[in-house]
Amino acid sequence: MEKCDVLIVGAGPAGVSAAFFSKYYNENLDVILVERLNEKKYFEYHDICGECVSKNLEKDIKPLKLEKNEIIEEIKLIEERWPNDLILTRKIKGYIIDRPKFFLKIIKKFRDMGGNVIWKPFLNYEVKNNFIKAKVGDRIIKTNYLIAADGSNSLVRRKLGIKGRITTLLQYIIDEEPEHGKIIFEYDEKWKGDYKWIFPHGDNTKIGFPLVKHKEELRNVVKKQARNIGYGGLEKYVYGNILLIGDAACQNNPLTKGGIRPGMVAGKFAAEAIAKGDTNIYDKKWKESPFGSNIFLEVFEKVKKMSNDELYYHMKPFKSGNVLGFLKALLFYRKYLKIYRAYELSGKVGW
Ligand SMILES: Cc1cc2nc3c(=O)[nH]c(=O)nc-3n(C[C@H](O)[C@H](O)[C@H](O)COP(=O)(O)OP(=O)(O)OC[C@H]3O[C@@H](n4cnc5c(N)ncnc54)[C@H](O)[C@@H]3O)c2cc1C
Repeated sequence: MEKCDVLIVGAGPAGVSAAFFSKYYNENLDVILVERLNEKKYFEYHDICGECVSKNLEKDIKPLKLEKNEIIEEIKLIEERWPNDLILTRKIKGYIIDRPKFFLKIIKKFRDMGGNVIWKPFLNYEVKNNFIKAKVGDRIIKTNYLIAADGSNSLVRRKLGIKGRITTLLQYIIDEEPEHGKIIFEYDEKWKGDYKWIFPHGDNTKIGFPLVKHKEELRNVVKKQARNIGYGGLEKYVYGNILLIGDAACQNNPLTKGGIRPGMVAGKFAAEAIAKGDTNIYDKKWKESPFGSNIFLEVFEKVKKMSNDELYYHMKPFKSGNVLGFLKALLFYRKYLKIYRAYELSGKVGW
């Protein structure tokens, strides 16, 4: 039987980060990263994303960084469209990235550090006394630690009997020149707490929204895509020597539905805990970090129930875009203070 110290399932943002940092924190660990998709399918799968990240991602995953050829464009403005034609615009610092390219670069770095990659499906596992027996393609591998980064429909999570909150996002590639440097969000009661997004992507525009009972009319559609995400967290992220990360652990932010940065941060935390020989460090660190705050889910459940009138009303004080608006909100819209706090925090760690 083949052996390794750490076996990571899934080479999405969470998995590639866990793989890289497992070797980074302890170069002597034998680490295997498993990915089921061939190169073409891998590009297709990871293109199903707005690919928008905050510039803060780079601070979180140092020494990893985005190279010029992995950045599609810089994002400097966010435009929020609320009901009753309320439009709020502010400056932000982010990127639209070429995520498959970025992840493949990280995989190469992982291999250069001595990591192994198996491009086969992870099919099953059994927990033994002090190890885990995994079936990958037609190979049987004995591992000390199993990191599940296998996305929202995680086989590992399902086998542990944990459901998680799963939702489907639709995305359309539109053959229309986008507004460069800007991401646009449209809020409406029909999106049930979520939103419609309009992101630039080279010469195309990516438009997406949650799968709800509503037909959105779109022109110049080149491609329609759909994928599930897991959001809102779990009670526990560690089950003995099994660690769940990223969408497998429902770590996508409930308010923003951003999951690249949370997944990469979780991958790093999980790798660090393994290097320190105590998996519970990961569970604790995630729950104590702003990424793992319960406020996002609590507020998402509230926003989900808001009518268009209330969506408009609760953002009205910010119309002026100046400090007086913030004061007005603090003094006269106290009912929404928790919501405002969650919005502010999600701006910092939700993407
Ligand atoms: C339409 C859409 C738009 C989005 N836009 C954004 C955005 O702009 N910004 C943002 O931050 N987030 C966005 N997200 C969310 C983000 O894509 C996810 O949260 C993130 O990809 C989760 O990362 P992950 O590594 O946990 O899982 P995934 O990205 O789902 O990766 C899982 C990997 O595991 C592999 N795998 C699964 N099962 C197995 C198996 N049995 N054996 C081997 N390999 C396996 C898969 O092939 C895949 O490569 C968007 C999501 C969608 C659907």
